[in-house]
Amino acid sequence: MKFNAKIKDIKTYEAGKPIELVVREFGIEPKDIVKLASNENPYGCSSRVTESISKILTKMSLYPDDSMMDLKAALAKRFELKDENVIIGSGSDQVIEFLIHAKAEQGTKILMNSITFAMYEIYAKHVGAEILRTTSQEHDLDEFYEVYKKENPAIIFICTPNNPTGDAIDAQKLFDFLKKIDSDTLVVIDGAYMEYAIAKDASKEVKPKELIESFENVIYLGTFSKAYGLGGMRVGYGLAPAAIIKELYKLRPPFNITTLSLEAAKVALSDEEFVKNSVVNNFSEMKRYEEFAKKQKIDIIESYTNFVTLCLNPSQNSSQIASLLLKKGMIVRDLSSYNMNAIRVTVGTKEQNSRFFELMQEIL
Ligand SMILES: *Cc1c(COP(=O)(O)O)cnc(C)c1O
Repeated sequence: MKFNAKIKDIKTYEAGKPIELVVREFGIEPKDIVKLASNENPYGCSSRVTESISKILTKMSLYPDDSMMDLKAALAKRFELKDENVIIGSGSDQVIEFLIHAKAEQGTKILMNSITFAMYEIYAKHVGAEILRTTSQEHDLDEFYEVYKKENPAIIFICTPNNPTGDAIDAQKLFDFLKKIDSDTLVVIDGAYMEYAIAKDASKEVKPKELIESFENVIYLGTFSKAYGLGGMRVGYGLAPAAIIKELYKLRPPFNITTLSLEAAKVALSDEEFVKNSVVNNFSEMKRYEEFAKKQKIDIIESYTNFVTLCLNPSQNSSQIASLLLKKGMIVRDLSSYNMNAIRVTVGTKEQNSRFFELMQEIL
């Protein structure tokens, strides 16, 4: 059968292996499996969320509120914006899909970092866009500007903090960069891990309100999947000038967010204490990774997120190590598909991290 030629060489996105699969493949008991592969919050989610959701289970036979009024209002309030500046997606992944489909077609140039979130490329390929990449591992905004001047891309993706490397851009530098970009180019700022970055270093905080007040061509993306602990609920959002949001809405399928997810996200937003505690625990546990890496003489990229990237030594093969860990029930992310001899490990609970150090020590 013939399929759309544009999707021919798309590599299927490799999500972190689900626990269920490891149970089946390796016959390991679920209780012995630790998943540190998808940057989920190891402390679960706010207890307010589970309580409020259990109260609305009877609403499941009805379609959700497609206006998403309550969650939109809660997000608008949090970021001091208007409802018209907000679009909600089934994960911020879906917002990425909307904006690429809204702006790009065959041959459209899309610029992104050499190493960055894989979904940008996958959606870009849907429409046959031309993907341009910078060369340096961390976002180098001078190089971004050089390529921009030469190629005039229609979309620029900036992921800060970046996945899968964990580094973050100085917010003021980003702002200065945005001032130099023509309003015809859409700049996407993916802040999936911003809650972590802000807690570690205030100079990394990109404020959506400032972006929207200053630029007509910038969209900020956020998600409930990471710090809020709602990866299973699939809720993300885009914040942008109303004129951009209006275009994206044309691509949104009706009822793209379930009733339970809308409720979960709205309630999660009200529990700042939960996020704060998760972030504090995250960085105190991260110190143990830094010490472990130092002891093992492995390079670690300074991280502003809830994961660490361990750049292994040449004698250590990331794919091999990831698969040895997997056989012992420890799921991490091998970054060889990004041309890095590295593994990405989500910072888990104290016990999960201890287990990782133990197994890693055995393997090394
Ligand atoms: C996790 C992640 C997202 C989106 O996740 P959703 O679960 O789809 O909201 C977006 N960008 C980056 C960089 C991520 O790591």
